[in-house]
Amino acid sequence: MNLILLGPPGAGKGTQARRLVEGRGMVQLSTGDMLRAAQASGSEMGRRAAEVMARGELVSDAIVIGLIEERLRLGTGAGAIFDGFPRTLAQADALGALLGRLGQRLDAVVAMQVDDAALVDRISGRFTCGACGEVWHDRTRPTAVPGVCDACGSTDLRRRADDNADSLRQRLMEYYKKTAPLIGYYHALGLLRPVDGLASVEAVGAAVDAALATP
Ligand code: AMP
Repeated sequence: MNLILLGPPGAGKGTQARRLVEGRGMVQLSTGDMLRAAQASGSEMGRRAAEVMARGELVSDAIVIGLIEERLRLGTGAGAIFDGFPRTLAQADALGALLGRLGQRLDAVVAMQVDDAALVDRISGRFTCGACGEVWHDRTRPTAVPGVCDACGSTDLRRRADDNADSLRQRLMEYYKKTAPLIGYYHALGLLRPVDGLASVEAVGAAVDAALATP
């Protein structure tokens, strides 16, 4: 099964992707994580992408499509969860073509719906474990011991450079202008599965499972 998690920043795509990886043995393909890895590697592409990301704008279609193509060619076992990709209509077209060339198809697009006030709250308090990827939140999901990941014990807890008010405003604008049109695109293809993203992680997870069971 190949699926897309679609939604604005802070909707909970990464958290649900991790759940699906653990529960179904699928592979999470997050273009945001790939771009942050490119930045950490010190490559020229990573450095340029980091400047764009810090402003909250979208990195060029050619770069992210290239990253996804490279990763898909390595194989995805039980299936891929696209997290943060596609973000534009051009990326959506490219993904369809890529999967077609690999003899695969897209099975579902889970659209996670969350209102803007909740997004600001979620993003301004979130931090992630650099070792295991678990996502935490200052108020709604704090670690038991401050500064230590409950899941793996690492003290490498990170806040993203673009999780600040200015960048978030721009990221939301990019989402509504360039990514939200994908809702209509995938609706027309009969693949859209809307899910209320405001509930607890477990309740959203159950809704995602139900959405994926819908033919
Ligand atoms: P994310 O981790 O998905 O929130 O992505 C962080 C940032 O990486 C975004 O604000 C964009 O600058 C960039 N980015 C991630 N995925 C894409 C994509 N599919 N297309 C363009 N830019 C992306």
